[in-house]
Amino acid sequence: MTKSNNDDIDDEILIPLDRTQRRLKDSDLEQAKLVYNTIEKCRRDTEYVLEHDLRTRKLLQAVQQHCDSRVLSEGILLKKCTNEDFNEFSIRGEMSEPQKRIKLCCNRLAGIPELRRTLIHELVHSFDHCRLRKTRHVGCNFIACTEIRAYALGGQCDLPVDLAKFDGNRDECIKYWATMSTIRNCDNGVEAVERMFEKCHKDLSPFNLEEKH
Ligand SMILES: [Zn+2]
Repeated sequence: MTKSNNDDIDDEILIPLDRTQRRLKDSDLEQAKLVYNTIEKCRRDTEYVLEHDLRTRKLLQAVQQHCDSRVLSEGILLKKCTNEDFNEFSIRGEMSEPQKRIKLCCNRLAGIPELRRTLIHELVHSFDHCRLRKTRHVGCNFIACTEIRAYALGGQCDLPVDLAKFDGNRDECIKYWATMSTIRNCDNGVEAVERMFEKCHKDLSPFNLEEKH
């Protein structure tokens, strides 16, 4: 028996042969092969993105300017997520206002491009919470709007592979994923995304038109 030096990987795990008992869905399998299997590698890549990616830097700067950095005062938590964190494998991160931090699930992220997209997505939520601080009202219209912006600005619908199941329609892709995220918190999420789409997908703040993608 060889002993692993890597504390981040389970020593052993039992895979049930009954497919219905397995934790991953078919669509998750492709991704699961490629995700970070050490927090250390995930940390290095996150720091690289924070330091070198212009889009990430601009958003972070905007959050810090708008909020005096309070909204993310606890930083970014990198985690090996379990079903107790998020029960859907497709959830890769969150911005928690009460905890004042972003949480990223390294074991659900496949390398720098996906890490970057997820970080930008959560930074857009952070920026939107900053902008909203004065009113303190976080209703379904707000949630729908920030999800639309996070998917649009995070680039989750910018590559041909992302658009394949939407016949190349970027707006439909953004709407679909924003709806999936909004309905987790809002019973009328579908209507809220429809209602807010036109207005919110045009709102590129803190970017300008040239920095759209
Ligand atoms: Zn989101």
